[in-house]
Amino acid sequence: MNIHEYQAKQVLKGFGAPVAEGVPVFKAGEAEAAANKLPGPLYVVKSQIHAGGRGKGKFKELGPDAKGGVRLSKSVAEVIANVNEMLGNTLVTKQTGPAGKQVNRLYIEDGADIDRELYLSILVDRTVGRVAFVVSTEGGMDIETVAHDTPEKIVTLAIDPDKGVTDADVEKLNAALKLTGGAADDGALLFPVLYKAFVEKDMSLLEVNPLIVMKNGRLRVLDAKVSFDNNALFRHPDVVDLRDTTEEDEKEIEASKYDLAYVALDGNIGCMVNGAGLAMATMDIIKLYGAEPANFLDVGGGASKEKVTAAFKIITADPAVKGILVNIFGGIMKCDVIAEGVVAAVKEVGLKVPLVVRLEGTNAELGKQILRDSKLNVQPADDLDDAAKKIVAAVGK
Ligand code: GDP
Ligand code: MG
Repeated sequence: MNIHEYQAKQVLKGFGAPVAEGVPVFKAGEAEAAANKLPGPLYVVKSQIHAGGRGKGKFKELGPDAKGGVRLSKSVAEVIANVNEMLGNTLVTKQTGPAGKQVNRLYIEDGADIDRELYLSILVDRTVGRVAFVVSTEGGMDIETVAHDTPEKIVTLAIDPDKGVTDADVEKLNAALKLTGGAADDGALLFPVLYKAFVEKDMSLLEVNPLIVMKNGRLRVLDAKVSFDNNALFRHPDVVDLRDTTEEDEKEIEASKYDLAYVALDGNIGCMVNGAGLAMATMDIIKLYGAEPANFLDVGGGASKEKVTAAFKIITADPAVKGILVNIFGGIMKCDVIAEGVVAAVKEVGLKVPLVVRLEGTNAELGKQILRDSKLNVQPADDLDDAAKKIVAAVGK
């Protein structure tokens, strides 16, 4: 689960990280009061969307010459003008895709005088099985570009979970970021604080790009992107409260209500599969035969008929889906439950696209019989290969 920058900063501030004062704004009428709460004379008006690259982004409605999604403003009047221009419009950045994202929230922040822009993130480094810091002196820009062009400028430091961030770690991070004096003192406080926030809140990513050294020599978290581990959300109701579903894919929200593992993709073949491994294999084989999956959907092990019905409805509701492949290997999951779920869903919402079904394992025969009796227009398949060929042929490349 992702949250907005202003929410991430609030969370980090709670742990003691240095962030600027700021006020979120949801309506244009709130801009003046928000700016007046800040000291000035420099303000920043920042678009709050779940995507980065906002500074260099462009608003669809405003044309190529208008300013981007992060705007420095030198007076309250300028803040108000920027809020009026930005709020409600669609920001297109490198990360939003061409459709862009509507900006429904802005964050008005006390502006900083920047000396240097650094990069810092914390993530789970699976190669070493530890939480690791990734830092670079080249912050503020696309870290992927830095990684590609000058990988030597990126330093990774894994943290020993028994010890946490040690003095030696602090020294290494300060050296990698070339921090000295007051900035190094701030680093010694900041690194353990960020690590603590990451671990305690079960984050999967904490990215500060940029972390800045201000003209006064002190550090500040200028941008913050935080993702949480969905599997740990049950123990963080305060984090769940920060969820902004308008930023999420509608189908993924619906799927999460039924506890389905669903990820929307760009292709046109909807897949309903049980087990993540089988789902991956199904996606692979669709690609092998030259088509693209429209989603990853794992109905899980012991899904009920209601859950299967919900899953099938989510797939059929996607206008991009031109064909559906149901691929079930019944173990704990019973094939007749899948068949009943599919039939129930089709009764409710109809079936306008080709459907290929491969059922194997527990109660497979019973499941096939249920589908035959339903008189649904189903193409049965013998095995995964046969199923993939049939659905790709039915959809046409
Ligand atoms: P992003 O483009 O979505 O990553 O948004 P950021 O929050 O990283 O802001 C983009 C850029 O705007 C930063 O890299 C800074 O160069 C600039 N910026 C943001 N806040 C301030 C500020 O308080 N003062 C100054 N001078 N520049 C800022
Ligand atoms: Mg940034």
